[in-house]
Amino acid sequence: MRQPPAGREVAFLGLGGNMSDRIYYLNRAVRFLDADPEVEIDDISSVYQTEPVGPSEDPFYNVAVRVLTRLSPLRLLRACQQVEDLLGRVRTVRWGPRTIDVDVLLYGDRVITTSTLTVPHPELTGRAFAMVPLLEVATGWQLPDGRSLASVIADLAPIEGVQAIGRQVSLEDLPDGPPEGSQA
Ligand code: ATP
Ligand code: CA
Ligand code: CA
Repeated sequence: MRQPPAGREVAFLGLGGNMSDRIYYLNRAVRFLDADPEVEIDDISSVYQTEPVGPSEDPFYNVAVRVLTRLSPLRLLRACQQVEDLLGRVRTVRWGPRTIDVDVLLYGDRVITTSTLTVPHPELTGRAFAMVPLLEVATGWQLPDGRSLASVIADLAPIEGVQAIGRQVSLEDLPDGPPEGSQA
């Protein structure tokens, strides 16, 4: 994959939500991220519909984005958490219903293990709903251990319940406002 412009790094984020108008929240989230002067959204995957893994009702919608950033990994995590806060995520049950979850999946080829940040994301390679969208925006990319994303996905087969539903998330036209009864 091409080198990032000088002073910037390539990172990959995974976004997901299973509450209220999921397409709306995903679109808002990529706009908030792109509005940060230190973060440029470079590519956005299709939306993948995924059956929930935990005790919640609606399917998740997931996208992966490639960003170019001057933020350190920790500051990028903070930016992701700020987007969650802005969009009214309420932290209740882990894996429970949420308007938006934004995870740092990869940051260049770095390996980070601190109490607040683990990169690659600790669950990445076991989650088809994270790997499949990621492959779209990280074609040809490798994990820090040298494995290709494609080979990790092959190891997840058979993949069920992760379905591309279209390109409803972009930085272009956004539907006018939040749906009736939503909060953000
Ligand atoms: P999971 O991590 O299994 O996807 P989750 O996204 O529901 O679960 P959160 O409540 O959003 O979990 O995050 C829990 C903590 O995970 C955060 O407070 C954050 O410090 C930590 N964390 C560690 N590594 C990462 C990462 N790569 N991306 C996002 N959060 C991370
Ligand atoms: Ca998270
Ligand atoms: Ca997560």
